[in-house]
Amino acid sequence: DTPLLRVRDLQVQFETRAESVRAVDGISFTVEAGRTLGLVGESGSGKSVTSMAVMGLLRRARVSGSIALAGRELLSLTDQQLSRLRGRRMAMVFQDPLSALHPAYTVGEQIAEARRRHFGAGRRAARRHAVDMLGEVGIPEPARRAGEYPHQFSGGMRQRAVIAMALSCEPDLLIADEPTTALDVTVQAQILELIARLQQQRQLGVLMITHDLGVVARVAHDVLVMYGGRAAEQAPVDDLFRQPAHPYTRGLLDSIPRLDDPDDAPLRTIAGSPPSLASPIPGCPFAPRCSRAAEAEEAIRARCTDEQPRPSYYAPGRLVACHLPLGIPEHGTSRTDIQH
Ligand code: SF4
Ligand code: MG
Repeated sequence: DTPLLRVRDLQVQFETRAESVRAVDGISFTVEAGRTLGLVGESGSGKSVTSMAVMGLLRRARVSGSIALAGRELLSLTDQQLSRLRGRRMAMVFQDPLSALHPAYTVGEQIAEARRRHFGAGRRAARRHAVDMLGEVGIPEPARRAGEYPHQFSGGMRQRAVIAMALSCEPDLLIADEPTTALDVTVQAQILELIARLQQQRQLGVLMITHDLGVVARVAHDVLVMYGGRAAEQAPVDDLFRQPAHPYTRGLLDSIPRLDDPDDAPLRTIAGSPPSLASPIPGCPFAPRCSRAAEAEEAIRARCTDEQPRPSYYAPGRLVACHLPLGIPEHGTSRTDIQH
């Protein structure tokens, strides 16, 4: 069975005159139709670069490995072939909906235009379809709102319109990069619900890029945690929340506010800062921040600093890149405990 999206050993390198930055270093994952993979990490972890690589939008980077969409290798396609696939087979939704919308055209015109371009639909059919799409993404009075301009929409309505535009060409894969980060909490929840509903109805494969494990808890089936351009851990979402295997994942989970926190509880954060991608260290990229390594015996600490851990089997369906993965904790975090 060919998965919808299969990424193997993806490497992305940016060369500048001064330095060479390895933004993504050996990432592998699959996204199946009807499932959502949450790609989680801090800024600079390589998650956005990974999604841009899949979309074929990294003109100036050295990209290697394999990215196959329904069995078709994307890294060997021409720019023209790729731009035909974008929109038609895969579409992207970004953090800022205004960047995806043209201020001088009505929302309806822009959705219709995407349909016309990829389907060769007639003007009238494309307009009708645009109104249907606006209705499908939950915009009230879609026929009237189709004639309005982006600035007449609220932030949440704009993101709905962008989702309508992304789905207007019936893609198989939707890549959403921090689609709710710019929105207030209530609207965030609504947009995530919308994406989850559309995903089920249309059996989309979704790649959800986020720094927020709360978002992952809401919409993802599977999770890939990235750190310093590498995979830290991969797991089904419930397993990851119940029992994180990687110390970095544990740190991320610990920094999520819980429902039972007292109001004055201090923010728990992971001490230290993300690694420099321009001068990677030989061992585990998380080693300078890892309290587990700091507390370990000398021999293990030496391994952490000298030897890069590779993703290896942890449990069925799970991989972890750590020399000393966590065992079964006494008190796991349930993902329903998370405040959002
Ligand atoms: Fe920590 Fe070592 Fe595991 Fe890296 S390999 S996460 S430094 S214990
Ligand atoms: Mg980003």
